[in-house]
Amino acid sequence: MKCSGCLIGCLQFFRLSVTSLWEWLIDHDVVPGKMMCRKCQQPAKFLFYDFSFRCWRPRIVRKGSRMVKVQCTFHQSARKGSWLGNSLSSVIDIAHFCSLWLCTSYPKTVKLKRITGFTSLTVGNWTSACRETCISWASNPARRVGGQGTVVEVAEAKFGEKRYSLGRKKDVCWVIGGIQRGSSKIFLVHVDKQGKETLRRVLSENVLPGTSVINNCSNVYGTPSEQDSEQSDENHGLQFVLSNNSDADTRNAQRMLRRLRKFVPKGRKREQFQGYLAEYVFRQAYRPKERLHHFFVEASKVGSSRGSMIA
Ligand SMILES: [Zn+2]
Ligand SMILES: [Zn+2]
Repeated sequence: MKCSGCLIGCLQFFRLSVTSLWEWLIDHDVVPGKMMCRKCQQPAKFLFYDFSFRCWRPRIVRKGSRMVKVQCTFHQSARKGSWLGNSLSSVIDIAHFCSLWLCTSYPKTVKLKRITGFTSLTVGNWTSACRETCISWASNPARRVGGQGTVVEVAEAKFGEKRYSLGRKKDVCWVIGGIQRGSSKIFLVHVDKQGKETLRRVLSENVLPGTSVINNCSNVYGTPSEQDSEQSDENHGLQFVLSNNSDADTRNAQRMLRRLRKFVPKGRKREQFQGYLAEYVFRQAYRPKERLHHFFVEASKVGSSRGSMIA
């Protein structure tokens, strides 16, 4: 990857010419900059007008008992196998859509439909693709917070709505959030039920050993005094800090969860939470001008696993 980090805002991204935008995508490994002709094993020529690679080299092939000269017919879309997939929408439109998706607040669907002119299906599909890219980014174990000598505040909040009418079940879940003091590093995880084991699992997956953890969930998850020395290994090297006023000591984490409550649209189902939480963590991790770089770097890793299916 040529680009190791760039700053580009939404408007600046929109002003890029087709050529510059394509080169920007190549620099971020979203699309290939070169392709070999499979028939001649030579570099194919890139055509800007349809974003494809072609080869017209003359080749000598055997036809019966004679050797004849034919022109190579190799032709392949540069988008094939990439995150941009085989979508009917143009590369420029999709790149602009992602840029808008990253800087628009909820509710996004109506705004994005109006601005881009995409159908509801296309907006829905690309919204899912963007969210899956954020999930992939957030699930990287290297994103764990804390470390030796750091303090992480942990809090929890209940999300979702109780739907008693029409015999519908309660659609609620719990979100456990942590924030590393003195940094913008956060983690957010949604869980179906509370419990000591749940908290231990969440912390072991998201917090580095050696971290001091302050939480306001002691009534549910056990007080720090209950963590005896034998349990320290089970706590994955985490130290629970005694706090006389856990509400005050975890105010940063609680503030984050209040902001999250405003960010996630009401009425979302439990299975949708992972995407919203990952998007929130991604947005918090980077300043607006850093987001496009990191988003497309992650998109290049996600590759075509979803892109090839998009309308
Ligand atoms: Zn970059
Ligand atoms: Zn060829």
